[in-house]
Amino acid sequence: MSPECIFVLDHYNDYISGELVPEKVIRVENHLKSCPNCERFLGRASKLHGRTVGLLRTSAPQALKSSISSLFDKA
Ligand SMILES: [Zn+2]
Repeated sequence: MSPECIFVLDHYNDYISGELVPEKVIRVENHLKSCPNCERFLGRASKLHGRTVGLLRTSAPQALKSSISSLFDKA
């Protein structure tokens, strides 16, 4: 594993969530072009991240919403 692979592994989380500074984004992306292993890893990690974010955005079922708002009504 090259130092650049380690750099990618250290920063992939921020890279995926868009919190990495532009200089480091460029460094990660340059490395991905030459390293299929990291490219595959990051592809899988970002898919997983997307799924997690998707789950968090899923809104509560309507039944739950109305039972919660009826609780508020009674308060
Ligand atoms: Zn690599």
